[in-house]
Formats: sequence, C-alpha cells, structure tokens
Amino acid sequence: MDSKAKRSVLFTRDEIAAAVSRLAAEIRHDYLDKNPVLIAVLKGSFVFLADLVRQLDFPLEIEFIRLSSYGGGMESSGTVKMAPGALSKIKGRHILVIEDIIDTGLTAAFLLDYLRRRKPASLKLCSLTDKADRRRVVVNIDYRGLAVPDKFIVGYGLDCDEKYRHLPDIYVLEQ
Ligand code: 5GP
Repeated sequence: MDSKAKRSVLFTRDEIAAAVSRLAAEIRHDYLDKNPVLIAVLKGSFVFLADLVRQLDFPLEIEFIRLSSYGGGMESSGTVKMAPGALSKIKGRHILVIEDIIDTGLTAAFLLDYLRRRKPASLKLCSLTDKADRRRVVVNIDYRGLAVPDKFIVGYGLDCDEKYRHLPDIYVLEQ
C-alpha cells in the first residue's frame, strides 16, 4: 500500500480526544490508589498511551511490550511472538494492558494469558478501538474506546507498512 492510497476519515481528532477523556475518567476512578503498571503494546498504542497518561493524575508506571502478528500486510497470520521486554514487575501488581485495536483478539488473548501466568494482583485490558465483527476468540475489553467497522484503519498510531502512524485522525484505508 503506497502513501497515495485512498483514505477517508473515520474518527476526527476531536472524536478521538473525547473517547480518550472518557477512558481516562473510567481508569482514574478504578486505579486512583493502586499504582498500576500500564503495559502498552508497541508500536500502535504509542500515541494513545501518550494522550491517555497525560490525563491520569495519580501514581502509575509505564512499560512497553512488542508482539508481532502481522507480516507487514493487512491480514493476521494468527500467530504471536513475544519480544523481550520489561516483564519482571508483573507479579503482585495491578496490570492494565493498553492496546490500539482488538481485531481477531488473538494478540490480546495471548498477551493476557502470558501476563496472567505471572500472577498479577489484577489484570485488565484497555483498547482505543474495537473491531468486534472480526473476533475469533473471546476477549473482554474492560475499557473500550471506539467501535470500528470491519475495515482496515490507520492513523493515531495505527500503521500500514509503517506508514500513517503520525496522522492525528483515524482513517479507513481502501483495500
Ligand atoms: P488481532 O490479534 O486482534 O487480530 O490483531 C491485533 C493487531 O493487529 C493490532 O495490534 C494491530 O497491530 C493489527 N491490526 C488489526 N486490525 C488493524 C487495522 O484495522 N489497522 C491497523 N493499522 N492494524 C490493525
């Protein structure tokens, strides 16, 4: 997909900001006194994380993790690989996973299972977007931002072959 591929706005920056503020309020309510560890899944969630945490005015820690389920194309291979990351501080902590999008759910299911086995005090999932029609495994999204149709979306951290991550709005990319 080249950079001249056709795209149309799905969510404006204002709509995204409203969703992020709502999620921040929900998370603040639940984690105010818990000193949680937010684990952001790279690369797609970096913009969302940056906007979200600046609205969280209480103690928390941030870690990053990288998984791969895409080979640079638009279809999930259905497999995930854990990259080395800062996973030593899971046990006994309140863990909140920060995702950009839940599509088939395979990545999130794998990651949640991986983290659960390291015995956190609690484990929840926050995703900016949810492509529920594509789900192949059941995933409970505790903090859910925007419902998206079964289309490939880019912008606000989400890429296609590493392009478009920097765009402030979310677009549907024509396939
Ligand atoms: P899942 O394992 O839920 O199928 O896929 C999760 C990952 O697939 C996301 O973290 C993201 O990297 C990628 N993905 C799924 N749908 C989309 C989409 O519409 N746009 C982009 N840019 N990435 C997607």
